[in-house]
Amino acid sequence: MNCPKCTGTLEAKTYGERIVVHRCNSCAGLWCKPDVVIEVQREWMAEAELDIGDPKIGKALDGLDNIQCPEGHGLMQKTADDKQTHIWFEACATCDGMFFDAGEITDLKFDTFLDRVRDFLKGRRPVQD
Ligand SMILES: [Zn+2]
Ligand SMILES: [Zn+2]
Repeated sequence: MNCPKCTGTLEAKTYGERIVVHRCNSCAGLWCKPDVVIEVQREWMAEAELDIGDPKIGKALDGLDNIQCPEGHGLMQKTADDKQTHIWFEACATCDGMFFDAGEITDLKFDTFLDRVRDFLKGRRPVQD
């Protein structure tokens, strides 16, 4: 898959037995599904292994809008965690895939973010203003 934010390629990376994310070989952004985000939170230090990109590059790319789902579902929604509004990530309304810029998964406080992920899994969409 092609990275939605740069010209790099998303490559599958595994951690342990159950965690598979796709990481861009250029900007190190991470593409994953909500259930994987929950697994990353369960596995001690998984995010440190997977989220190896330079947060400065991630921050620069965070300003990019209107990115396309790498699985071909069209425009993704830019959304923020309610309680951590400095963290913006993109989510696909069709496949629930999420794209995190380098450094964002490490930066997340999982306890509040997981409520948001569970909303995704239940099929509710974040309200946009
Ligand atoms: Zn990239
Ligand atoms: Zn999609």
